[in-house]
Amino acid sequence: PEPLLEIDDLHVHFHTEEGTVEAIDGVSLTIGRDEVLGVIGESGCGKSVTALSTMGLLKSPPADIVSGSIRYDGTELLDLSDQELNDVRGDDITMIYQDPMSSLNPVLTIGQQVMEPLLAHRDVSKETARERALEMLKSVGLADAERLMTEYPDALSGGMRQRVVIAMALITEPKLLIADEPTTALDVTIQAQIMDLLTDLREEFEMSMLFISHDLAVISEIADRIGVMYAGNVVEQCEMRELFESPLHPYTRKLAESIPSVEGRADRLPTIEGTVPELIDPPSGCRFAGRCPQYIGEVCDSVDPSLETPPALEGGDQKVACHLYDEEREGGPPWPVGEE
Ligand code: SF4
Ligand code: MG
Repeated sequence: PEPLLEIDDLHVHFHTEEGTVEAIDGVSLTIGRDEVLGVIGESGCGKSVTALSTMGLLKSPPADIVSGSIRYDGTELLDLSDQELNDVRGDDITMIYQDPMSSLNPVLTIGQQVMEPLLAHRDVSKETARERALEMLKSVGLADAERLMTEYPDALSGGMRQRVVIAMALITEPKLLIADEPTTALDVTIQAQIMDLLTDLREEFEMSMLFISHDLAVISEIADRIGVMYAGNVVEQCEMRELFESPLHPYTRKLAESIPSVEGRADRLPTIEGTVPELIDPPSGCRFAGRCPQYIGEVCDSVDPSLETPPALEGGDQKVACHLYDEEREGGPPWPVGEE
């Protein structure tokens, strides 16, 4: 079936006084209907920029969408006018962020804010919107919904605020929810509750999700497939299961190793020697070359590897951007691939 969202070879630059930041360098990702795609990577790798581009929120300087395509349900989002984009955003595609307060207006009541997307996008009466808002607040686990409707955000805990933001994001029953580190600002217990809630709501609303996090343990709870980002590139895209069982990219292999810690979760990405390259005037070859334990020489420095399915895995969905899997490379892949 045709994917719901298809990001193809997206390039996004930021023009700064120090130079042009090549923040997104040819990102391709697809999300199927009713599917949750996780996107993992370190801060600054381009996860949020990809999300914001999809929401049409990077249309003015210093951001510059240089090239690429973002197709949603058959429509090219990059070609839409602001008005057309407004019809999609906040209705069909909604987004939740790390800090719930960034989505909430401190001087409006919870009721006003949860009703707002419906009033903006649907031809409904205030009374209907109010009823739907009450239902939504209950759906996101806020029991005392009637009273909450008249409260202001500062009367709520961080976890309750994030539930309100989720209610706002889902009241129009979007087809795609973009969640950018939705639990990162919350303490661990609340984090787990919000993850459970999102997992339930995903089923209830039959929606697709782009779930962004720097925490593989969190992503693995909810994602069906995953895109691994590094320095503005997707270096691997695969089934969640494949990431643990048969990771291909040297960076992904490091990630996958980091998971089985004592508590059964990793709180941060593993330490890898070296630093992420500057994205102003970035290296012309593989952006991971400076840190790669499997570096194979000149080709890594000079040729930007493209995201492809290795010949040994042909017919499958797993894709990797790494010269180790080049078809003609002498010696073939460094570890067995394609074996179950
Ligand atoms: Fe490492 Fe080269 Fe593969 Fe980049 S292309 S990940 S440097 S082996
Ligand atoms: Mg690239």
